Amino acid sequence: MIVVDNLVKRFGGVRAVDGCSLRVAKGSITGLIGPNGAGKSTLFNIIAGALAPDAGTITLGNVDVTGWPAHKLFAEGLARTFQIAHEFARMTVLENLMVVPAGQSGERLLQSWLRGANVRQDEARIRTRAEEVLNQLHLDHVKHELAGNLSGGQKKLVELARTMMWQPKIVLLDEIGAGVNRTLLGEIAGEIERLNRDHGYTFFVIEHDMDLIARLCSPVIVMAEGRVLTQGSMEEIRNNTDVIDAYLGGRGARAHAPS
Ligand code: ADP
Ligand code: MG
Repeated sequence: MIVVDNLVKRFGGVRAVDGCSLRVAKGSITGLIGPNGAGKSTLFNIIAGALAPDAGTITLGNVDVTGWPAHKLFAEGLARTFQIAHEFARMTVLENLMVVPAGQSGERLLQSWLRGANVRQDEARIRTRAEEVLNQLHLDHVKHELAGNLSGGQKKLVELARTMMWQPKIVLLDEIGAGVNRTLLGEIAGEIERLNRDHGYTFFVIEHDMDLIARLCSPVIVMAEGRVLTQGSMEEIRNNTDVIDAYLGGRGARAHAPS
């Protein structure tokens, strides 16, 4: 469903992404791991339309989307999580879901999604959808809370909820587990599994938590120095000496190898 072919992105003399090719299959929860500086976030930013590549192509379904801006990709069904920004912290959880994510879509998406229905009806539809999503993620009880008052883990669930508003085909998750306690992390993982199994969502996940990767992801793609080193099941990757070397040596000296 996503095919990345020979992608290159340079920052000055640094080749952050250096001939990266991979595919994310429809219906999969595909993991992306690799030492610090491997190029994972840069790759995500390119796929999500926040950065333009210097070379290479990206296709989504059958469409060549190379260089497309974020709002156009979003309209095509590709969503990514965003941390709840300052201005959203002072809005309720429900309101957070009812606004279109900043910088990702804008008026044009909203218009195409609404397709000419009248304004009051539209608001009712958006509200109904928001309540449906909050219900699916067991967030009903906090819907009138200010988003800024939620725990770190609940904020992560709201980030996930916001991507679900517009029923994306594929969701990019960049470190959804960062700063989340074990219990809630288990819940978030459960939700991701359920959305994948019952609603057909495809996920592409960057994550440092190897337990979470092992639980959720198949396959797991390992990136190092801007390109794919290998991919396979977590079991295969754990025993791959190239992967262990990549984590222990080179640019990833500070990272921990998968264990
Ligand atoms: P990862 O997410 O795997 O840790 P990144 O994609 O953040 O890796 O970074 C890959 C490389 O690109 C690193 O060497 C990083 O310092 C560099 N880099 C990332 N973003 C920028 C930027 N905006 N300007 C300059 N260099 C960058
Ligand atoms: Mg990163």
